[in-house]
Amino acid sequence: MSDSEWLERVAHLNQWKSHGRRAPHKPLLLLYMIGRLQRLGTAGVDFREAEPELQLLLDEFGPPNKSTPAYPFHHLMSDGLWVVKGPNGEDSPGPQVSLLRSGYRGELTRDFAQALESRPHLLSDVALSLLNMQFPPTIHEDILQAVGLELLSATTLAYERPDHRPRRRDPTFRERVLTAYEFRCAACGYEGTLGREAIGVEAAHVRWWAAAGPDDVSNGIALCSIHHKLLDRGAIGITDDLKVAVSQHFLSNSDAARQLVLALVEQPIASPQPGHEPPRRSHILWHRDQVFRAPARMLRQGDPPNL
Ligand SMILES: [Zn+2]
Repeated sequence: MSDSEWLERVAHLNQWKSHGRRAPHKPLLLLYMIGRLQRLGTAGVDFREAEPELQLLLDEFGPPNKSTPAYPFHHLMSDGLWVVKGPNGEDSPGPQVSLLRSGYRGELTRDFAQALESRPHLLSDVALSLLNMQFPPTIHEDILQAVGLELLSATTLAYERPDHRPRRRDPTFRERVLTAYEFRCAACGYEGTLGREAIGVEAAHVRWWAAAGPDDVSNGIALCSIHHKLLDRGAIGITDDLKVAVSQHFLSNSDAARQLVLALVEQPIASPQPGHEPPRRSHILWHRDQVFRAPARMLRQGDPPNL
């Protein structure tokens, strides 16, 4: 198969997600296996060995509801990139953890593994395609490190969607969002320029672009780099009345984090300039459901409004 045929097949994993729910399980399994292939030169893994590592990946980068590695381990077989066999060559028993633990092994198909091994550009393109389809760019490096993958620096991928009209990012999104919020972080108020350029302030999507979030100001918010990252990882979120939600799972003892994060609990998010829509409720709900690490911290009685 040609490179573009392999990429096409990988891109069609995307059809697995539905109704705006994130389904990064198969992509994370593939990224994990591609990382092993690159690092260890092996295309296969015992379920027992992969299970704890995949569970960590799902907990860290999957949606907030708990999911099991057995699910992608079994179901990835339907995509023609992966096979699961028992100790005596028997077929996968299904997505049951207890059965898969009894000696079952998953492996990238021989053709796919050989193509990835012999064509480093294909390997990088496949990994980048999986990342682009499922995750915002703020998270890509975290995932690559977690699976031990190194991409070729020259990788430039135009391939983003399985349909034939690839969806393109709107290059004006950043400018429109930053202008609406006057180039200031809506959570902490940070602003800064280097020369004439704003630096460290970014246009974040509330509903991820990779999850069909539109490039509209009503789906955008200007955030400093740290709050952008925290939003995309679900450490902070947005309440219905447009205040900052901080996850109870976010922990820190540093004064810097107390000021930057913990002091924001239930603080109002800055409004955009008149004439621009604040983040729309449907996008906020998507983020709360699919990204935010609930539950949110509550203000303690007697806490000063700013720590
Ligand atoms: Zn900020």
